[in-house]
Amino acid sequence: GVLVVGSITADVTAFSRRLPRRGETVLGDDFTLFLGGKGANQAVAAARAGAPTWMAGCVGEDLFRGIVMDSLREHGVHTSEVRTVPGRTGVAHIRVDASGENDIVITPLANAALTTEMVDLSIAATRDRTRVMLLQLEVPAAVTRHAAAAGAEAGLTVVLDPAPAQELPEDVWAHVDIVTPNESEATALTGIEVHGFESAERAARWFLDRGVRQALITLGGAGAVSVLRAADGSDVTSRFPAFPVVPVDTTAAGDAFTGALGAALAAGLGNDDAVRRGMAAGALATTVAGASPSLPDRTAVSALLAA
Ligand code: ADP
Repeated sequence: GVLVVGSITADVTAFSRRLPRRGETVLGDDFTLFLGGKGANQAVAAARAGAPTWMAGCVGEDLFRGIVMDSLREHGVHTSEVRTVPGRTGVAHIRVDASGENDIVITPLANAALTTEMVDLSIAATRDRTRVMLLQLEVPAAVTRHAAAAGAEAGLTVVLDPAPAQELPEDVWAHVDIVTPNESEATALTGIEVHGFESAERAARWFLDRGVRQALITLGGAGAVSVLRAADGSDVTSRFPAFPVVPVDTTAAGDAFTGALGAALAAGLGNDDAVRRGMAAGALATTVAGASPSLPDRTAVSALLAA
C-alpha cells in the first residue's frame, strides 16, 4: 500500500466569463466545491489506481471537514491517519474565467498543524501494510523533511513531488528515492532552464548529485525523462514519450502521475512499467475537467496502456 503525507483542502471554485479587476464584483456562471490539496489528490490517484492508500494529514473542526473526509472515503482512501485539529480545514480559493485562465489563493489553516510526531504515528500504524510514501510541499517543510527521513528509515520507497517548488533543507535529498518535478519545478529548484529532454536530463543530475536515487522529470505533453544513478555511480537515462490524448484541462496531471506511479511501485511493478502507468494516468487526467474528478481508475489506465 501507499502512505501519503501531505495537504488536504476544500477547493472552492467560482467560474465567471472574466476575472474581476481589483475591487470589482462580477457575476459568476458556476461554482464547485471539491476535495483538493496535492496530498489528497495524490492519495485519491493512488487509491483509484488500485493501491490500499492511507492519507496522513490534518483537517479542522468545521463544515469542510465532513466534506473532505467523505470525499476521501468515497474515493477509497483510508482516513484513520487524518487528524482533526482545532481551527479550520485548509482552503484553496480558485477563480476561473471562460478561457480557463485562473488565479488561486491557498490558505493552509489545518495543514500547518501537521507535526513530526503525527507523521511518526502514521508510519508506525501503517508500516506492515505500506511500501511507498508520497510527499509534496504543501505542509511545513520541516515535517516533509522529517517524513522523508523517517520513511526511508522504515524501509519505505520515498517519492517526493517538489510542488509547489520552494527551497528545501539540503539534507532532505539523501532520504528521497524518487523526485518527480515538472518542468517549472525542476527549473525553480535547480536553476537550470528546463524545457524538453536534454535540459531535463541535466536538471535530473542536479538531484542525483544531492543524493536522490532517481529523478523523474515530467514534461507535460512531451512525456517524461528518468535518470537513475546506479550503485557504480553511472547514470541510466530513459526517455518516455507521452500517450497521445486530446487534453481539455491539465489540472492534476502531475498528481495523477505521482499517485499512479506510487500505486504501481507499491504493487511491486518494475520501474519502467510504473513510470508508464503514471504517465497513462497523467494523460487521462488531462481529458477530464477538474482535479479529483479527473483522476482515472486502474481499468482506464490499463486500457490506455493496451491501446
Ligand atoms: P504537472 O501537472 O505537475 O505540471 P505534467 O504536466 O508534466 O505535470 O504531467 C505529468 C504527466 O502527465 C506527463 O509526464 C505526461 O505523461 C502526462 N501528461 C500531461 N499532459 C499531457 C498531455 N497533454 N498529453 C499526454 N500526456 C500528458
